[in-house]
Parts: sequence; structure tokens; C-alpha cells
Amino acid sequence: MTEIHKLKQELVKICKEIYKQNLVILGEGNISIRVPEKNEMIITPAGNDYTDLKTNNMVHMGLDDTVFKNQSRPSSEFRMHRSIYLQRPIVKCIIHTHSQFASTLGILHYDLPVIIEEMVIFLGGSVGCTNYCLAGSEDLSNEILRTMKKQNSVIIANHGVVVVGSSYDYCIKIAIIIEKMAKIYIGALKIGEVKTILKENQIPFLKIFNEKYSTL
Ligand SMILES: [Zn+2]
Repeated sequence: MTEIHKLKQELVKICKEIYKQNLVILGEGNISIRVPEKNEMIITPAGNDYTDLKTNNMVHMGLDDTVFKNQSRPSSEFRMHRSIYLQRPIVKCIIHTHSQFASTLGILHYDLPVIIEEMVIFLGGSVGCTNYCLAGSEDLSNEILRTMKKQNSVIIANHGVVVVGSSYDYCIKIAIIIEKMAKIYIGALKIGEVKTILKENQIPFLKIFNEKYSTL
């Protein structure tokens, strides 16, 4: 079995987990992994069907936007994946979903503030929301990188959420954490005034993020 085929199988596994976690419902969102030591990635195809995932449908392409021979058409949102891999050499995986609660913050153009310490450890702090840009555009790729700052995640205005990381398991984990935190935050907003965790109290947890999870 070729290395590329193995990587395609890994990508299918990640897709299955994200679907199992209800972070994607229909064919929306897209997931990619880097081909080690090459300027290439494997990304989910356009019109990905999470209920009928096929290893051979995963798309092998270059970070120069070349799609290699005998591949399906890549997700129309491949540009943001390509730009993140080029900008952050240690990123190995990118997960983009339209998960319900993170997307709700996206339509409000709200950042997700630090409400629970877990967010600082795994996300490095709050999760910023981009300005609105057309899905799939080069502008959106730039806006995602700008808004992500030193962290590994971003809410996309009127759209969804993107997480990046240097391991597949970490990316799956933070995709789940953000959705959980967004749900808690939206619930709290309905009841009263949200109290966030002060910057000074985030410092010890930020150290863990910087040592274990930073992709800069
Ligand atoms: Zn999307």
C-alpha cells in the first residue's frame, strides 16, 4: 500500500470521528491532512458524503493548487487549507465544520471568550471571529490567518469554525471542545451576564498551551 493511500485512510478515519461527534451533518465542512515532508495535502472531495466515505475519493493535491492525476475534485474551500499549511509548517491536520453552536456565534460575529480554563490549555485562549468573506475565497484564507493570531482555531463569520494542529487527535479534540464551549456560552448568554476568566488567571494554563499545542 502506498503512503498516499495510507494517508487517505487516516483522513477517512478523522471524517468518521467528526461525523460520529455530530460536528457535521450533511456533506458540509472539509478536512485535510498534510503529506509529511512534502508541499502536498490530502483533502476531502467536493460534495463529500460522510455516510459513504471512500478512501479513493480523498483528494491528493499540491500546496500550489495542482490536483494530481486521477483524483476527485477537491473541496471548494481548499484555499484556506493550503494557506494554513504554507504559513504554519508544523500543522498536520485542519478540520473545518459548520457545527451548530460555533456557527451560531459566527452569525452573531461574536468571539468565544475564555469562560473555562480548559479553553486556555487546549485553545490558547479565546477564539476570534473573522470579518465576513465569501466561502472559498482567497480573502477568507487571509482573514482566517489574521484572526487566528497565535492560536489554533477561529470562528468564521456567517459560516463555521476552523481548527488546526500538529496531531490528528488534538484537532478532533479541539473541534469538540469549541463546540461544547460555544454551547455553554450561548446558554449562559440567555440567562445573564457572562463572567470571563481574567488574563492574569490564564497565565499558568497558557504555558501548557505554548509548550504542548502551539503551532507557531
Ligand atoms: Zn464551510
